[in-house]
Amino acid sequence: LDLDLEIPSVGRYRQHIPPHDTSSQTPRQVEDPLEAEESAFEPHYTLPASPIRPQVDSADPTAIPEGLGKPKRPRTLPILRVIGQIAATYIVAEGPAGMYLVDQHAAHERILFEQFLAEYHSRQITSQHTLGGEMVELSPIYSQLLEEYAPLLHEMGFTIEPFGIHKFRILSVPSMLADRDSPTVLKEMLHDIDADKRPAQQTLEEKILRHVCKAAAVKARQILSHDEMQGILRQLERCENPHTCPHGRPTMIHLSTAQLETQFGRK
Ligand SMILES: [Zn+2]
Repeated sequence: LDLDLEIPSVGRYRQHIPPHDTSSQTPRQVEDPLEAEESAFEPHYTLPASPIRPQVDSADPTAIPEGLGKPKRPRTLPILRVIGQIAATYIVAEGPAGMYLVDQHAAHERILFEQFLAEYHSRQITSQHTLGGEMVELSPIYSQLLEEYAPLLHEMGFTIEPFGIHKFRILSVPSMLADRDSPTVLKEMLHDIDADKRPAQQTLEEKILRHVCKAAAVKARQILSHDEMQGILRQLERCENPHTCPHGRPTMIHLSTAQLETQFGRK
């Protein structure tokens, strides 16, 4: 018996706008500059607009069908039940085999990465228009990088056009970044890609995908509601590789009941 009945979702998209379509401009929230600045420092105990609030959307590829339908993705972890949150960073959960401590950022990154990768491979990346096109000014080096990457970035939901010397207009971003400050995300992404000197077998696509997910995932030191935490766990339970984030960091620490018994001298 699979008890996943009501599933809060993680990283759902509100709508699908093809990257080329400029006819239906969708207003996005204008970010409070102070809030944007604060969130860059990952302050303690703030509750910024969360990309993981449960939303009803039948188009979500990871949604569990209602009624007696079977989930579309196989389970890779046991059912986990949220107990609470530690340091606004780790989700404490209980499963059939003991206790799990889940790093909320790493876990959400993994979930988004698998969703984004599937969308990219099926050429179904959803993107969202920025309000009026956001301006960004880049250094000469980053300008050159951006021009080089523009076609690939476009395939991934970014529509960026030159707008003067070293200046660019961001017309759309992948939907999962809709709540983020797009000039900041773009600058950080170019910096990350430029600085990423890991083995050459990883493609530029992978670097961009990883960075988008890093930027879109919930941060550490962010208070989550019970539903948001349960939503993360429900989706992590069906990730192909639930144990690490896309950068290879662990998403969870498991303390088995047997380990607890040993630690407390019961065995
Ligand atoms: Zn990571």
